[in-house]
Amino acid sequence: MEFENTTALITGGTAGIGEATAILLARGGATVLITGRDPERGAAAVAAIEEASGGSGGSARYLQADLGDLASVRRLAEQAGPVDVLVNNAGSFPTAATVDQDVASFEEIFDTNVRGAFFLTAALVPSMLARGSGSIVNVTTMAAQLGMAGAAVYSASKAALASLTRTWAAEFSAGGVRVNSVSPGPTATAGVMAVWGEETIRAIGAGVPIGRAGTADEIAETIAFLASDRASFVTGATINVDGGRTAI
Ligand code: NAP
Repeated sequence: MEFENTTALITGGTAGIGEATAILLARGGATVLITGRDPERGAAAVAAIEEASGGSGGSARYLQADLGDLASVRRLAEQAGPVDVLVNNAGSFPTAATVDQDVASFEEIFDTNVRGAFFLTAALVPSMLARGSGSIVNVTTMAAQLGMAGAAVYSASKAALASLTRTWAAEFSAGGVRVNSVSPGPTATAGVMAVWGEETIRAIGAGVPIGRAGTADEIAETIAFLASDRASFVTGATINVDGGRTAI
């Protein structure tokens, strides 16, 4: 089993891309720790992950956490203990035109997508470095590389996370810890369709070379690859999983 004896923490693992990633890693034999703010969602996701990975030896546990709240991030790091894989996936993605952007939503986006991921990583990486191994995967977005009207703050926050990927690769490579980004294009999850609108996601999908929105499973496959030893010579990279949108 590829992820046997591996503990993986996936923030926002109770839905969408995070849950799909948790299923793949648990199927590979990992002990998966998933986070989210809503405990009911957490319990349902644990049941779904364990059912989907039955017989693999993998397991799932839910830890309630709000990545936008620093005290909660610190508690999460303590509760999780040493992990081998960290997927910084939880994200806040409300939209607004720049002239309409309110401060509270600006802060929520940066607190969750940048500050939360930053201090969770800073708290968990020392044990990876002490063991001389680990893999961190940051989930960014194609909007961090393109100008998308109405997504200024979200895109900027994910561009910051992409920058952290490169800095962390520089800081942690000598200690055996790899750090990479997966940059999804439009992905048909219930969460993003509720916030951005299903029509919008389908329309953005129709505009990518492959001609459709992706699925959470398609993004999760690349996250699982980067988390695994199959990607042992890959660090500081961003893999675009966006139907060709940023390349063509
Ligand atoms: P999703 O289906 O809405 O799932 C989001 C997950 O994150 C849930 O588990 C949610 O649980 C959790 N979460 C949200 N805010 C949180 C917070 N402040 N603290 C802790 N957990 C939080 O979203 P998704 O579409 O899978 O997106 C996952 C990641 O991919 C995000 O970072 C997003 O920016 C990125 N992405 C998505 C797309 C897309 O089109 N779907 C495209 C590019 C990038 P609770 O609500 O219970 O907290």
